[in-house]
Amino acid sequence: METKSVKAFGAAAATAPLDGLQINRRVPGPHDVEIDILFCGVCHSDLHTARNEWHNTVYPVVPGHEIVGKVVQVGDHVKQFKVGDLAAVGCMVDSCRVCEYCKQGLEQYCEPGNTLTYNSPDKYLGTPTYGGYSESVVVDENYVLHVPEGLDLAAAAPLLCAGITTWSPLKHWNVGPGSKVGVVGIGGLGHMAIKLAKALGAHVVVFTTSTAKFDDAKRLGADEVVLSKDPDQMARQHRKLNFIVDAVSAQHDINAYLACLRVDGTLALVGAPELPLPVAAFSLIPQRISFSGSTIGSIAETQEMLDFCAKHNITADIELINIQQINEAYERMLKGDVHYRFVIDMKSLKN
Ligand code: NAP
Ligand code: ZN
Ligand code: ZN
Repeated sequence: METKSVKAFGAAAATAPLDGLQINRRVPGPHDVEIDILFCGVCHSDLHTARNEWHNTVYPVVPGHEIVGKVVQVGDHVKQFKVGDLAAVGCMVDSCRVCEYCKQGLEQYCEPGNTLTYNSPDKYLGTPTYGGYSESVVVDENYVLHVPEGLDLAAAAPLLCAGITTWSPLKHWNVGPGSKVGVVGIGGLGHMAIKLAKALGAHVVVFTTSTAKFDDAKRLGADEVVLSKDPDQMARQHRKLNFIVDAVSAQHDINAYLACLRVDGTLALVGAPELPLPVAAFSLIPQRISFSGSTIGSIAETQEMLDFCAKHNITADIELINIQQINEAYERMLKGDVHYRFVIDMKSLKN
């Protein structure tokens, strides 16, 4: 297959800092869109993967799955995009298209497994897929999103993962007016969950380990903010909530949050810590509580979320960085010191 070499930034090993490297992109086929990347958000999954915390990383790895850019080439059969259009790519660039879930428009749960934007087997090149910390990307048009008019492009990038990953469970569990929703952890995902749940009409209770984030939580839309380390504040939320989105990236006591749910309440985990989280039987049994999980969202659902965000003027709160600052950004992310998503200005890759 014909390829072209492009600049990227990635990790050569779990303990290596990210650095410049060259990767191959396929020359666009009949159904492909080639996108020059303008902005790429920095997700905690990028860090988990770069450091092999999920024990499945193939090196070198080029992270990045919150991609916004401009279409520079389209294949002959491409119908939905033309050269010059804005376009976005999230966490998934392909799926089998024929399984029960793909046919239902749930391709994020594709039975043989979807192709993730990075660190997945690339169907075309036989290498792993390489993500958005790069000059350009080539994706089948069915897995490319339209960026609605009016959204700030850098601040819209995090919608492609942080946005859809929190939107999907909020919609699946019917969050709306009358819902009392908990959001655990104010990071990239958590801050989007607050904005989206509020815009859907819910009463939003935010749990954080950091008093320094209280004012921001309110500004982002929280009706109540709880310091999760304070047992008295936690006790006040006992059996108060219908639904909780847990977006914490590290070990934490899940039972403390299950205790905040009402009968038939659900806690959906979107955070993906490296180690298992112990759940006590009696955190679930007496109130018929569900402990669940959710991954990203479908392509159609991602477009729906982008359109909702454009209508409600919702984007991420971001700190724009150059690619050369990525290792420092990872260290700050580990300390919870992100307000509330780093986004890379990809023109810095040309430096
Ligand atoms: P992030 O920006 O680093 O935010 C994580 C937040 O979790 C922190 O800001 C902090 O919030 C809280 N936290 C961190 N360490 C903690 C600890 N030891 N105890 C309690 N709270 C802690 O990360 P992100 O990008 O939002 O990603 C969050 C998680 O979701 C990651 O594990 C990521 O891999 C996962 N993820 C999953 C999916 C999916 O499809 N399910 C998609 C994307 C990301 P406070 O300071 O407010 O306490
Ligand atoms: Zn992500
Ligand atoms: Zn499938």
